[in-house]
Amino acid sequence: MLIEDLLNVNIPVQTLQSDWFDSAHFDVLRIDTIHPVISGNKLFKLKYYLIDTLEKDYKTIATFGGAYSNHLVATACAAHLSGLQSIGIVRGEQPEQLSPTLIEAMNYGMQLEFVPRAAYMHKQSIIDQFAKDDCYWINEGGYGLPGAKGAATIVANINNSKYTHIIAACGTGTMLAGLVQAANNGQHVIGVCVLKGYESISTSIKTLLPASSRNKSFEVFHQFHFGGYAKHPAELLQFMNDLWYRENLPTDIVYTAKLLFACKILAAEGYFPPNSSVLIIHSGGLQGNRSLTKSDLPFL
Ligand SMILES: *Cc1c(COP(=O)(O)O)cnc(C)c1O
Repeated sequence: MLIEDLLNVNIPVQTLQSDWFDSAHFDVLRIDTIHPVISGNKLFKLKYYLIDTLEKDYKTIATFGGAYSNHLVATACAAHLSGLQSIGIVRGEQPEQLSPTLIEAMNYGMQLEFVPRAAYMHKQSIIDQFAKDDCYWINEGGYGLPGAKGAATIVANINNSKYTHIIAACGTGTMLAGLVQAANNGQHVIGVCVLKGYESISTSIKTLLPASSRNKSFEVFHQFHFGGYAKHPAELLQFMNDLWYRENLPTDIVYTAKLLFACKILAAEGYFPPNSSVLIIHSGGLQGNRSLTKSDLPFL
């Protein structure tokens, strides 16, 4: 299966050089490099859903997302590669001009269905409305046990035992739940929440942990969202440019720039004890920068 081939690659690891990060050793796991469209964590999260879909002989995958959802386009692409049809339930009325994300999803053959915001909240009635017997539904953002199980395989091919900390951005928390599952005893897993005021994310993460992982420690920081989801004030763009010039590391405005910023601040605050070795998960999402131009971000 093509998806597994895509995931069975050696993911490059980039060591950060900057004196910003002096207090600890930082390696970046560049899963953004595995595929130009379904880059980063989305494909890992979809892996077991796809396997389940094919095993149960469904012909169509359906899921939910906003007009800029990385998950939606990743699902479209993954379905296409697996020979499946796909349906995307998009939050909000159909706009005159489709976002680049939605155009890309359509180009992978995804059938888009626009649902007004109020109705979009009621997922079950949408499922009933669009229900076809051969349709396999995946939660918004890939949230769920199979999603976490897939995310756990992100660190499967690297020697992760040398790291004292693993840190990643979180939206639904599915990836973080997978990383907690994959962590060794004593390894501390840290989430940087990119949504404003999503304090209950820790509970959503715990819900996705099997009994064997329930006592593993993890922590989520809530002060690095820069005003909320996809908000990108000038200070964040400046940081992204600095990071590009110093480290040759491209980041995205929604997730990974905020993650790297958090690393810088936490390091400066002495959060990481001496001799810490930190694995930063570059979860992808670079296509989320498409609303910006080269004058904002030179690496576009
Ligand atoms: C979707 C996404 C995340 C968040 O993953 P969750 O499992 O929803 O927490 C993080 N980084 C990138 C680049 C993403 O696209």
